[in-house]
Amino acid sequence: MQSLYSNIPNMNEILSKLSMDDIEPKWQKKLADQYLQSLRASIASGDVNEINADEVIQSIRDYIKTTLSPGLKRIINGTGVVIHTNLGRSSISKTLLDETTDVLSHYSNLEYSLEKGARGSRYAPVVERLKLLTGAEDAIVVNNNAAAVMLTLNTFASGGSVIVSRGELVEIGGAFRIPEVMKLSGCQLIEVGTTNKTHPYDYSRAVAEDTRMVMKVHTSNYRIQGFTASVETDVLSEITNANGLILYEDLGSGSFETIEGFQEKTIQEAASHCDLLSFSGDKLLGGPQCGIIVGKRDLIAQIKSNQLLRALRVDKFTLSILDRLMTAYFKTEGLRTEAIPTHRYLKLSEEAIEAKVNAFLDIYQEPLKEIKLHVTKAAMDSEVGAGSMPLALLPSCGLIIRSDHSIERCFRSMRLLELPLIGRIEKDGIVLDFRMIETEDFEGVFNALKAGCYHE
Ligand SMILES: *Cc1c(COP(=O)(O)O)cnc(C)c1O
Repeated sequence: MQSLYSNIPNMNEILSKLSMDDIEPKWQKKLADQYLQSLRASIASGDVNEINADEVIQSIRDYIKTTLSPGLKRIINGTGVVIHTNLGRSSISKTLLDETTDVLSHYSNLEYSLEKGARGSRYAPVVERLKLLTGAEDAIVVNNNAAAVMLTLNTFASGGSVIVSRGELVEIGGAFRIPEVMKLSGCQLIEVGTTNKTHPYDYSRAVAEDTRMVMKVHTSNYRIQGFTASVETDVLSEITNANGLILYEDLGSGSFETIEGFQEKTIQEAASHCDLLSFSGDKLLGGPQCGIIVGKRDLIAQIKSNQLLRALRVDKFTLSILDRLMTAYFKTEGLRTEAIPTHRYLKLSEEAIEAKVNAFLDIYQEPLKEIKLHVTKAAMDSEVGAGSMPLALLPSCGLIIRSDHSIERCFRSMRLLELPLIGRIEKDGIVLDFRMIETEDFEGVFNALKAGCYHE
């Protein structure tokens, strides 16, 4: 064992042979130290029984490269979930992103009015188009919809109470729970109705001295079906108006257009019935992560004067992408869909997806056989994802991959590649839904299958 330790090259030799001139020497040394520590531990525990100086140096070089390389990677989404929260929700089209680089790599009028030559509003660049699209009087943008909910509740109901139906006390991914957020915002939750049924009188009877707001929450990620009743905002507005309360709807994933085959009210419809409305930027809207609040001018003005906004405000990267997205929304349908990948994926027909699968097989059927994978084309269903339309299934097409070797190991290996391929494991195979797999990804898909699943 002693000889193993003595075969480890010394630090001077390592540093001179690493030849990584672009990395600050103190970091080379620090990471080499880290690597050597774990190497010595492996020797001590008997996991290593041969040491070659050149190989150690090569391993240190690889370790430094891996440790210092950017952690956020592009991946190929073969899961069939269009708005996948773990995979970055909505992707932004290259064209749209390119349009923002000039603004972002220079100074901009982020908070400067070019007309007045003085400090301006951060929201001004996008407000006019948001007003046109939503029909609301004013708008503001924050970090995400969770921040929008928090800020709205805190601005109007801190120290007071808010009425919410028991059927709408949702928890969304990452344990964002409406009752908890209310507590954090400083307001008291008044639950009304039951899990499956809430009636208008449940709301009107609950109105008390300290009631400030009625909140309607979109049950994004679940549906209550069967013997049910809930109260829509057009009816709720009669109650709030009669009692001088604010009616606020958290729409979750909002969309400006009805996507064919789905029964969901649009943002414009929702906005027309309430005083304030909030929705996410990166769900069905297909943009960057942000939360958009629209509604009555005087209410938005009050939100703007809440100190909490300073902590939740949207940054210029997000704002510049949203800015271009807003312009895209006014284009004709074909151009609009092209600019918003989430919409393009949602609108793809089963036939168009099958054509992609066929095109892939035309090129790779033989090579796949050579790497001994059993590949079958199959019909399947994609999902919208991100708590949007939880019950909707989108007819799709893809491949089921079976191997004589461990499918879990293959799945794992494909995740750890330079260009990872993420599918889903079902029964004994890996399912790859081709809805979000583009022609330009084909080579990456094959390479991932080969690198991850091929055993000579
Ligand atoms: C998704 C969602 C949120 C949170 O939105 P983020 O943009 O993820 O912060 C809040 N409320 C509802 C109903 C949602 O669906």
